[in-house]
Amino acid sequence: MSDLKVYWPDAEPAISEATPTSPAEARAGSNEPEIYSFAEWVDKLNRPGTNSAALRAQRLNANQTCPDCSRAGVLPLMLNDGRMDGSGRLVPGSATLVGFRCQTCSYEWPF
Ligand SMILES: [Zn+2]
Repeated sequence: MSDLKVYWPDAEPAISEATPTSPAEARAGSNEPEIYSFAEWVDKLNRPGTNSAALRAQRLNANQTCPDCSRAGVLPLMLNDGRMDGSGRLVPGSATLVGFRCQTCSYEWPF
């Protein structure tokens, strides 16, 4: 016999509908089963600013050429706040992107 319990959402009301607090707090304080909503998860993924890796990739892609001389030699400018790995090297993509610099004409611009 399995230890897993079968839960039917139609038979019992969801706990998040009855409590005024946030659903995460309500679930943490009770033994009720946690129901994951696909629609809530998709909304969270599509919210702007939540997926910083995708936003960073979009900014890097949108700034591949210099707006002043139209050359392609563009370097991203980052703050020195990135995470370090175990060997003391910067983890790629962890530093804050603040702008871009053209390698040809030295023009700098924020994203
Ligand atoms: Zn340039």
